[in-house]
Amino acid sequence: MLRQALILSMQLPYLAGYPESLLAQVRQLIEHDKLGAVLTKRYPDRHQIQSDRALADYTQGLKSRYLKSAAPLAKVVYDGKIHILKDALGLHSYVNRVQGSKLKTRNEIRIASLFREAPPQFLEMIVVHELAHLREKEHNKAFYQLCQHMAPDYHQWEFDARLWLTWRALTKE
Ligand SMILES: [Zn+2]
Repeated sequence: MLRQALILSMQLPYLAGYPESLLAQVRQLIEHDKLGAVLTKRYPDRHQIQSDRALADYTQGLKSRYLKSAAPLAKVVYDGKIHILKDALGLHSYVNRVQGSKLKTRNEIRIASLFREAPPQFLEMIVVHELAHLREKEHNKAFYQLCQHMAPDYHQWEFDARLWLTWRALTKE
């Protein structure tokens, strides 16, 4: 009973903002120890993109395909210092520098290191998200349309990636 009460009152911080009816279903899965199995069944694979070099090539590949004309990427790396709950899943920074008479922007993408261990869809989701920020700084309608253009299942993948983070937090802490 106590365990059930704890689960029902669980905040599910990675899923903040999703409808309560959906969160109730997630709590059910956790209560019945089924979340891990559901995720493994839906996402059985792991990607091989382990080095920063491989990540940069992968990101560049998606950019060439969908955002060829967007500003170039100066750097793409895995970052073990990203605090997922505080900073979101990845980071995209713009360093503005004056070079001669021009203002130059240096675009960097940092992906939280734990995505090394993720299913390929979740890595694709976070890379697509950070790439979309090359065009749209805000999380507005145009931003999510661009994400969906690059990854039609974007919204499902983001939700499921947050489920996966929830499951990791429950089992690895
Ligand atoms: Zn963002």
